[in-house]
Amino acid sequence: MKFIDTHSHIYGEEFDADREEVIQRAKAAGAACVLLPNIDADSMEPMLALCHRHQGFCYPMMGLHPTELPEHPQPLLERMEAAIAADRHAAREFVAIGEVGVDLYWDASRREEQLEVFRLQALWSIRYQLPLVVHSRSAHAELLQVLAPLGSKLCGGIFHCFGGTAEEARELLSFDGFFLGIGGVVTFKKSTLPEILRQNVPLERVVIETDAPYLAPTPHRGKRNEPAFLPLVIERLAEVYGVTAEEVAAVTTENARRLFRLP
Ligand SMILES: [Zn+2]
Repeated sequence: MKFIDTHSHIYGEEFDADREEVIQRAKAAGAACVLLPNIDADSMEPMLALCHRHQGFCYPMMGLHPTELPEHPQPLLERMEAAIAADRHAAREFVAIGEVGVDLYWDASRREEQLEVFRLQALWSIRYQLPLVVHSRSAHAELLQVLAPLGSKLCGGIFHCFGGTAEEARELLSFDGFFLGIGGVVTFKKSTLPEILRQNVPLERVVIETDAPYLAPTPHRGKRNEPAFLPLVIERLAEVYGVTAEEVAAVTTENARRLFRLP
């Protein structure tokens, strides 16, 4: 069984002590590759270093996370866009714009700036024809407000760590070429996600992710998450959809390969 972890922060310091073992365990568990979303200025270097060390296994994204907005984001955004633009001329490195979005859960005081920065990065996705990996928390209406006017110009992406209602799922899936990123939460005992997925979201619109180090699936809940735990998510999704784990792995892997144009 092969799978792709479409969202993992294993370049983070939580993995400094045993990162190579985490990668070996990921491979042993069946990971074909792991996609790394950028966060801020400080994450760029460790993320790219890890991708260079594990070419063909770790792939980077580029973008500014909404909770990490610097006081004056413009210089950093220019640096990020320059990196993406330069990448167009060499062998392609970045597989997506991410992770970007709106987070009004932690801090709603800079709502307008967050929307502005998200819109700008959504435009990168169109300009450079790279999928958009979206983080959203307590910001569903704002998300639609930014994305709806871009409509058919968008070139697909992921609503990462989806945890919304059935209605929100349907609204997000009205964007062509977008997938819902599903991870450990689907294994949690009281999660309403299984029912929402079963009734509203075909497996053809699902990709899987850890969001490591966060959101480890049951029975590792509360501990550090890592890509090797994803088979637990795959098994739960197999129950949810009434198919085999092999089928969940095959369909979600193909979804991710197509979206990110992976080899
Ligand atoms: Zn993330």
